Amino acid sequence: MTKRGKRTNLVHGGTKRSQWGELSEAIFLTQGFAYDSAEQAEARFLKSGPDEYIYARYGNPTVAMFEQRIALYEGAEDAFATASGMAAVNGALTSVLRAGDHVVAARALFGSCLYILEDILPRFGVQVDFVDGTDLEAWRAAVKPGTKAVFFESMANPTLQLVDIAGVAEIAHAAGALVVVDHAFSTPVFSDAIAQGADVVVYSATKHIDGQGRALGGVILGTRDFIRGTVEPYMKHTGGSMSPFTAWIMLKGLETMDLRVRAQAASAGAIATAIEGHPQVVRVSYPGLPSFGQYDLARRQLGAGGTMVAFELKGGKDAAFAFCNALEIILISNNLGDAKSIATHPATTTHQRLTPEQRAGLGISDGLIRLSVGIEDTDDLVADVVQALDRL
Ligand SMILES: *Cc1c(COP(=O)(O)O)cnc(C)c1O
Repeated sequence: MTKRGKRTNLVHGGTKRSQWGELSEAIFLTQGFAYDSAEQAEARFLKSGPDEYIYARYGNPTVAMFEQRIALYEGAEDAFATASGMAAVNGALTSVLRAGDHVVAARALFGSCLYILEDILPRFGVQVDFVDGTDLEAWRAAVKPGTKAVFFESMANPTLQLVDIAGVAEIAHAAGALVVVDHAFSTPVFSDAIAQGADVVVYSATKHIDGQGRALGGVILGTRDFIRGTVEPYMKHTGGSMSPFTAWIMLKGLETMDLRVRAQAASAGAIATAIEGHPQVVRVSYPGLPSFGQYDLARRQLGAGGTMVAFELKGGKDAAFAFCNALEIILISNNLGDAKSIATHPATTTHQRLTPEQRAGLGISDGLIRLSVGIEDTDDLVADVVQALDRL
């Protein structure tokens, strides 16, 4: 058997067993490694091979298992695991950019991603232009010869608008720019980002990869040259590597990720369908609904609707708060991709720091609710959302 299915790889991919033959992956909670001889230490510092470790900031067997497993699943040549999703975004960009470079980014970004692009990179002489990520003409106008990289979230938080990966990649590649995609909302399960033209894919493993709200983590995926030649030297010297304990949590998360995320997406679709047209709901934004503005793109790019549902209530902030407070199963929080269903009011939490004008520009109204759909019984989740709406 040479070619294995994706779910088989999520369970077995990258596994390395110790001499004890442990069934569950071992956690190598060690920062260092002992050498058989001084000569071996010297040789390893000169050049270390695939299963030769020096120091956990550089690499660790449990972390390597996680990296190989997610790379196999994603269809990437290699991966580097990071301490958080933000360490991954920062590492993917900062490892490759230098003073004088030009970057084009989508405007609708996770707050910390925006901070890196808007505040940190310009401090080091990188010029960043922002565009409406959904508008291919805007990308075409902003990308120029000498643009070093483009960056976007393939599915924007919290409106779930999509960026056309293949369309942007064609424009970026014509100018020789690297395409870096934050794919957290799209999930690894509904990803074909590399086949669609992404050069580098970044995930917050905190979200669907752990999927159980336990640990922060991240991963950068790309070609072996990029990961080992560009990302690894930067990450191992700046300290953003993943801890072995986190890697073990993420490995166990990967085993069930495909099952979890598909179940979450099925429930998300059921909720979106059930509440579309409810008298308290102005509009439902779910990539799997035919009414979604980019439905065709969603089918082509994701093949599904994803695990997130956004909808706008008629009564603004008061209705949004009353809705959240009326929920009986779904929790009020700001994580996403979790086994537990979560409701978020972006205007007063995740996007509170933006000005009302900035929020309006991103489509974040006071009545907007973002649901991250978990793995509870679909009927229970639909009933919970509907009863909370009916009480408004
Ligand atoms: C959560 C998230 C991040 C940051 O990940 P952390 O693990 O919290 O550091 C980056 N981008 C997107 C789109 C996210 O949802």
